Formats: sequence, C-alpha cells, structure tokens
Amino acid sequence: MDMLIGGKHIAGDDREDVINPYDGEVIDSVPIAHLQTAQLAIDEANKSKESLVEMSAFKVSNKLFNVVDKLRQHKQEFAELLTLEVGKPINESLVELDRSIETLKLAAEEAKRIYGESVPLDAGLNGKGFFAFTQRLPLGVVAAITPFNYPLNLTIHKIAPAIACKNSVIVKPPTEAPLTVMKFCELLNEEFPDGVVNTVTGYGSEVGDYLVCSPDVDKISFTGSVTTGMMISQKAGMKKVTLELGGNDPMVVLKDANIDDAVRGVINGAFLNAGQVCMGVKRIIIENEIADEFAEKLVGETEKLVMGNPLDSKTTLGTLISEKAAKQVEETVNNAVKDGAEILTGGIRDGAFYSATVIDNVREDMDLVVNETFGPVAPIMRVSSVEEAINVANNTEYGLQAGVFTKSYYDAMKCAQEIEAGTVFINKQSTFRTDNMPFGGFKNSGVGKEGIKYAVDEMTKTKLIGLNLR
Ligand code: NAP
Repeated sequence: MDMLIGGKHIAGDDREDVINPYDGEVIDSVPIAHLQTAQLAIDEANKSKESLVEMSAFKVSNKLFNVVDKLRQHKQEFAELLTLEVGKPINESLVELDRSIETLKLAAEEAKRIYGESVPLDAGLNGKGFFAFTQRLPLGVVAAITPFNYPLNLTIHKIAPAIACKNSVIVKPPTEAPLTVMKFCELLNEEFPDGVVNTVTGYGSEVGDYLVCSPDVDKISFTGSVTTGMMISQKAGMKKVTLELGGNDPMVVLKDANIDDAVRGVINGAFLNAGQVCMGVKRIIIENEIADEFAEKLVGETEKLVMGNPLDSKTTLGTLISEKAAKQVEETVNNAVKDGAEILTGGIRDGAFYSATVIDNVREDMDLVVNETFGPVAPIMRVSSVEEAINVANNTEYGLQAGVFTKSYYDAMKCAQEIEAGTVFINKQSTFRTDNMPFGGFKNSGVGKEGIKYAVDEMTKTKLIGLNLR
C-alpha cells in the first residue's frame, strides 16, 4: 500500500514488508519515507487547512457520518486485515472495528458541539461595560503517531476529533502494522478535500521525529511507549502534546471479593490481545486469605484459552506482534522464575505465540512487574492488608488505570481515592474503556486525555473577543 499525501499516492523508493506474525508470510509492503516526503505531507496539510475552516460544522459532521457508513460496510474486510497484520483473534478484531465505528460516530456528533462561552468581564476590576465571548479554533495541523496494538481505534481516537474541530492531519502509523490505518485514511480522503488527511510511513525515529520537531506541525498526539513519549516531550518545543503511554495496571483483589468475578477479570484483562494492552491487568495484588483458591481457579480458566490461527473464530489467544516480542516476554518470565517466582501454567513460546501464563509468588522488585510486560502474563503478588495492597499498587512509575475487587464500600472508596491512576474501576478490571470517557494516565502513563470530547479540548485553542460597549 502507498502513502497518501495531498490526495496523491506516493510509493517511495525504499519499502518495508508487513509480515503476518502467525505464519511469517508477507502481507504487503509500505514505503519507508524520507524526510523530504514527511515535509511534503506537512506542506500539503498546511495548504488544506483553510478548506476545512471554510466548511460548516454541519458539513464536517455529515462527512464524518458518511465515513461511519463506509467503515460499517467494509467491517469484515478491515477486521481480517487487522488480524493478518497484528495476529489478534478475528473476534477481537471485529470488536476493534465496532469500537472504531463508535469512536468515529462520537466524533461526527462532537463536530456540532464546538462551543465557546460568554465571559462576564464585569466580574473583574474595570470590566464593566464589556460584552465578551470565546471561540474554540482549530490548531492547524495535528500529527498522530500511533502504536501497533490497537492501530485502527487508537488512530481514529486522534484523527476523528482532530477533523471534527477542523484540523488537517498527518498520520504516522506503526511500522509493524500500518495497513488498516492506511486503508481507513483512504476512506476519509474520499470525503474530505485533498491534504486534509495524509499518511507518512517509515521509521518513527526518522519521520516520526521529523514531525515532532517541525515548527509547521501544531500538535503531536502520540500513543506508545514511555520511552518514546519522553523523547517526544523533550523535542516538541512549544507545540501542544498529548501523550497516551504505557501502563502497569494493578488488579487489587481483597479477601471479601467475589473470586469468580475477579478470575474472569484477569482472563479478559491479562490475556486480551495476547496481553498487548496498555490498560491490561499486569499485576494481581491479592490478600493471602483467598490467594490459593483464586490461583487454582485462575489456572483452570486460563487453560481453557485456545491458541491457534487468529483467523479461526475459535481462537481466543493469538500471537504477539512478532517473534522478537514473544522472546522478550519469555526472557522476562524466565528471569522472574530464576528469582523465585513460580509458573503455575503456561510459560511456553512457539514462534510469535506465548502461552497464557499464570505466575505466582512475584515480588515487587522483579523486572516482570517493575517494567511493563507486554504479553499474556498474569503475575500474582500476595499481600496481607488493604493498606499493603495500595502501597504495592502505587509502587510503580505508571498510573494508567486500576481495578479493585471487594464487597466493602469502605475499602472500595479507600482504594479509589488512594490508588494513583487516571481511572479506578470497582469490581471491574482495568482493561475496560468506553470511547467517550476521559482516558489518560497519571505519572509516567501520560499527559492529557482522550475520549472524543476531551481530545477536542486538546485540539482547539480558545480566543476571547471583547466588545467595549461603554
Ligand atoms: P512505540 O515503540 O513507542 O511506538 C509507537 C509509535 O511511535 C510508532 O508509530 C513508532 O514508529 C513511533 N516512534 C518510535 N520512535 C519514535 C520517535 N523517536 N519519534 C516519534 N515517533 C516514534 O510503542 P509500541 O511498541 O508501538 O506500542 C506499545 C506501547 O504503547 C506500550 O507501552 C503500550 O502500553 C502503549 N500504549 C498506550 C496506550 C494508551 O492509550 N495509553 C494505548 C496503546 C498502547 P515505528 O513503528 O516506526 O517504530
């Protein structure tokens, strides 16, 4: 597939294969853009800005709704491509498509709600006799840099609100899984003037970095790892930046919890998308009294997962994004075992597959839980009180989301108030998001919020207009 810049398809000289992690087959190839091509995309996006500003909100909204219809029509085709490039089970890809359609719909609705407000200047000293109001204006050009794990929905979370508030966009998709995003941008381009939507493929450290440093890009909306996010925040200069970064989400299970619910929470939270989820359950912090029963039930349910061809609808555990990624998870788990942790089930790698793994007696100082382990691993950490559970939950540089399982409203509120995370769910695992909620972490998990309305806030600038009526 080729890049889309200013409405034209650009093939480039060098290309990179996109590999299916399940069978190692080449699915397609994309250009490795040079910096001149990234500059061309910046120029085209800047040239097209006015065409969007001149368009009524009514028209922008209708056009986004048209893309909703098109995406719905092509849902199965998009889901299959997603499965091929990411290795996620087809049923999970279909869920990502449903969510992508919903995210786009929310943006189409939000395009009609870009409100300003009247401001009572007479509430300030010397302000009597003025009439003042604010307008929310587009920033200009938004660059969206996105990761491989939910490439479509996470990209739509950036470019749909950006267009809803009349910004042109440049998308830098992940090199390992760029195709679904590029195909989606083609649908957008059918509706909007040339240059409103541009795609630039190539290495993040080159073209991504170029977009981040460019004075002609007005905002970077990034989702990815903490390491890349930190680099971006240092280089972006005066432009606005939103960073949606990694997570190391705790699931706190207190002794009065419904154990079956908590076990289901881990199955849906730690093994979804082969554990490659920012808000995945990455640490199970459980009170001693129920830990043995919980571990036994969790092992039983984990062993029911079906590893296989991700295109087969019976498969519930697909591959990781690459064999390299699976080897990294294998090494991290093996190191934890050397340090005293015990594998209760799983721990086996086969190419890019890593079996769903439950690992007990994990300590806070093990790499497995100090850093974000991006694979299907459920580490159990035993504690003896709610206070200790909260301390362990907070002993991390991350703070994306958290889940707490308990029947006590007192303990639920104590955990909700004291756990440092952007979201705390009670009796639900952290791996839950509706696409309209404010989403974004504390600490090193990020800066700013997404969830269409909140993304629009971050993609507009506020102008105040004051009339002197004295
Ligand atoms: P990543 O390595 O940081 O890559 C993300 C994107 O950044 C890719 O498009 C990458 O391009 C690009 N990039 C790499 N280096 C860059 C640079 N120096 N300047 C600009 N762009 C650069 O992350 P990943 O491995 O794809 O994704 C996994 C991570 O994302 C995990 O930590 C996960 O928790 C996090 N994540 C967070 C959220 C959230 O909403 N908080 C959601 C999903 C995932 P290339 O592909 O060409 O390297």
